Amino acid sequence: MAVGRKPADTVCRMTLTGAAVVTGEQRVDELLDDLLEQFPPRATEAKEFLGQQFDRGLAWISFPEGYGGLGVSPKLQKDVNERIFAAGGPNPVYRNPIGYGMCGPTVVVWGSDEQKQRYLRPLFTGEEIWCQLFSEPGSGSDFAGLSSRGIKDGDEWVVNGQKVWTTLAHLSKWGLLVVRTDPEAVKHAGLTAFVVDMQDATVDIRPLRQITGEAEFNEVYFTDTRIPDAERLGAPGDGWRVSLTTLMNERVSIGGAIPQKGSGSIASLVQTWESLPAERRNPASRDEVVKLWIRAEVLRLTNIRANQNRKMGDPGPEGSIGKMASADLNKDIYDEVVNLLGAEGLLYGSYAMVRPETAMAFETMQKAFLRSRANSIEGGTTEVMKNILGERVLGLPGDVRVDREIPWSQVPRN
Ligand SMILES: Cc1cc2nc3c(=O)[nH]c(=O)nc-3n(C[C@H](O)[C@H](O)[C@H](O)COP(=O)(O)OP(=O)(O)OC[C@H]3O[C@@H](n4cnc5c(N)ncnc54)[C@H](O)[C@@H]3O)c2cc1C
Repeated sequence: MAVGRKPADTVCRMTLTGAAVVTGEQRVDELLDDLLEQFPPRATEAKEFLGQQFDRGLAWISFPEGYGGLGVSPKLQKDVNERIFAAGGPNPVYRNPIGYGMCGPTVVVWGSDEQKQRYLRPLFTGEEIWCQLFSEPGSGSDFAGLSSRGIKDGDEWVVNGQKVWTTLAHLSKWGLLVVRTDPEAVKHAGLTAFVVDMQDATVDIRPLRQITGEAEFNEVYFTDTRIPDAERLGAPGDGWRVSLTTLMNERVSIGGAIPQKGSGSIASLVQTWESLPAERRNPASRDEVVKLWIRAEVLRLTNIRANQNRKMGDPGPEGSIGKMASADLNKDIYDEVVNLLGAEGLLYGSYAMVRPETAMAFETMQKAFLRSRANSIEGGTTEVMKNILGERVLGLPGDVRVDREIPWSQVPRN
């Protein structure tokens, strides 16, 4: 039996009249069988395979039919992915991580029918890369305080301002942009979200180099950039609610992965330990490796449980648990990898400026170690995740927020 498939009698239920009802699970299985049979992943170009996956509703299976989904429980996606990857199929995340994990789920909730029709398929196939334009030099954790402006002019909006840390903007065709459209409203109420053409001549994308030497992210300047009103996501003033959809999905996308047992970064650590000369494989280092392996497994099981409980629609605050735990764990794992490597851990190769094709490739352990430092910042810092857990999961008193009730234009800022 194929990986992830259930015996037929658990997926085909009978009605009171005796007629068989095809369940979501059975339908997913049948469509997946058909996809893998007609388009053997190892013999099919990635773009073609992903397009066929989308057309069968197996891209994001909880999305509505016609938009890459089947309207069934998101927990079935894990089985779909496992079977596709086991057969050698492509992973849409690598080429378009921000698009697949955050922008697609936002477009499907907030986009018009035309926008969903236009954007989702090429996003999934990786033909059109997306980026997320939320953070600004003065607004990261407190991104609702942002100051880039959008002013309505007929059927268009004119945007001016600066965004920062925009991952893969240099490769992107489309950006998910949030700007302030009503400075007299309180800060969360005056924001509006748009899809913006990143290749427009008025959009200036400049590389920002990271500790790895690469420029995976960018600063982005908008100067009188015109965006058609039809490219708005949600109503004017809905920008905060739109971005919550993005951010909740971002946390699940970053921290909610359910890899195979013992795979991912923990596999790198075990591999590093196993490749050490015998005299350096001592009980103390073995103990550290095992402790980290157990933490990785606990996180994996926690994510499986969260995935089982996940309902249709936006993920809940449980995504923040996975995000926070995976950031700390990943950093600790690569710390230990570098410890085990000893002096070799200092050999980095080259700091030549590179604008990478993905935000997810780490050819060396040393690079993975440096890149992992960002894990507790990107997608919301660990401190902010703790605030969310304290307030929304544990019910503790809220953070101090002095600027919630006054118009954004009157909030002191430097
Ligand atoms: C690798 C990487 C990729 C990124 N990609 C993108 C992207 O594609 N698009 C995008 O829009 N942004 C992106 N970001 C930006 C990221 O979302 C922000 O860096 C992050 O939200 C933190 O904001 P900040 O850097 O302005 O720090 P600040 O918000 O200025 O925080 C500074 C420090 O204060 C702490 N702090 C702030 N507020 C609180 C609070 N209320 N309680 C407790 N502590 C607090 C923080 O935890 C942090 O330690 C990326 C960042 C990184 C590192």
